[in-house]
Amino acid sequence: MAKRDYYEILGVPRSADTAELKKAYRKLALKYHPDRNPGDQKAEESFKEASEAYEILSDPQKKAQYDQFGHVSNSFGGGSGNPFQGTGFGDIFGDVFSEFFGGSSRQSGSRGQPGADLTYNMDLTFEQAAFGYSTELVIPRMELCDACGGSGAKSSKDIEVCPVCNGSGQQRIQQGFFSVSTTCSQCRGNGKIIRNPCPRCSGRGRTNVKKKLKVNIPAGIDTGARVKLTGEGEAGSDGGRRGNLYLIINVLEHPIFERDGYDVFCRVPISITQATLGTDLEVPTLEGKARINVPAGTQNDRIFRLKLKGIPRLQRTGKGDLYVRIVVEVPTNLNKKQKELLEEFASISGEDCTPMKKSFMEKIRDFLI
Ligand SMILES: [Zn+2]
Ligand SMILES: [Zn+2]
Repeated sequence: MAKRDYYEILGVPRSADTAELKKAYRKLALKYHPDRNPGDQKAEESFKEASEAYEILSDPQKKAQYDQFGHVSNSFGGGSGNPFQGTGFGDIFGDVFSEFFGGSSRQSGSRGQPGADLTYNMDLTFEQAAFGYSTELVIPRMELCDACGGSGAKSSKDIEVCPVCNGSGQQRIQQGFFSVSTTCSQCRGNGKIIRNPCPRCSGRGRTNVKKKLKVNIPAGIDTGARVKLTGEGEAGSDGGRRGNLYLIINVLEHPIFERDGYDVFCRVPISITQATLGTDLEVPTLEGKARINVPAGTQNDRIFRLKLKGIPRLQRTGKGDLYVRIVVEVPTNLNKKQKELLEEFASISGEDCTPMKKSFMEKIRDFLI
């Protein structure tokens, strides 16, 4: 299903400032919050949708990226495209929540440590970025230990309920009239004690592995774009959610083409004879050669536009254009015969065949009077 536009979801114009975004999100969040709509699937969906929109648009960097590229971060690599997958959604907008709802939502979900997010700087050639690219990356990351499944114990018999806190992970300490609840010092909040640690991971529950990962970079991506692979970061510990992997895209320079958004530019040199008499010119495009008809009398710097020969628009239909700039090259290292012919040409031409020069000379004549 196509994702809705974030601005549309929040019901704000593209020009909305931070305060407007926050106000719009707050209204929707209050309306659709699961606590107010228990068991209402549609409300929950609307709530997640609004939260995702706000998460992106309230972050200047993500907002700029969204404004330029649209929905980039999902639908490739791992994950279902739902950024809330595998997370108690308290985490994602905990900050907004603590502001709106008194911070109560952070408590939900597991008490494990979430896995770290990873970033990977990825260089792409001009063509790979233009047409999309599938490859396999090798990402070093922490994974759950496959010997113990992340428990950190040699066998399940080696895991015991913490005798100090009876598995709650919390200890009550009497201080005068009050009893204060703190993290259990014996099990450090895990609620369990491991008698024999797993030899593979030394009881840490996680090991360092090199994970092979197939990634699909969509056509049209550009330098600075961030591709999110949900859940492909490091494994959490004690049941904590997985981190995400972010690919930071850098597009390498091309020897012929330059890029501006989805348009492509290139300079093609021609001789003064070709420019003067006109020519059928072969020019490079991203998808092979094309021909343009350079008419007689074409001046230096003239630009020819080849429609739809540019770069495919990221996750949209259509393409940019290719702009070919003509560079008229003055001949050098002439031999005697060539010079004579040019001088002869000049002597019979006068100023009639150089229109710009003619008008310039006329202006300068008026100016100097
Ligand atoms: Zn282990
Ligand atoms: Zn304990």
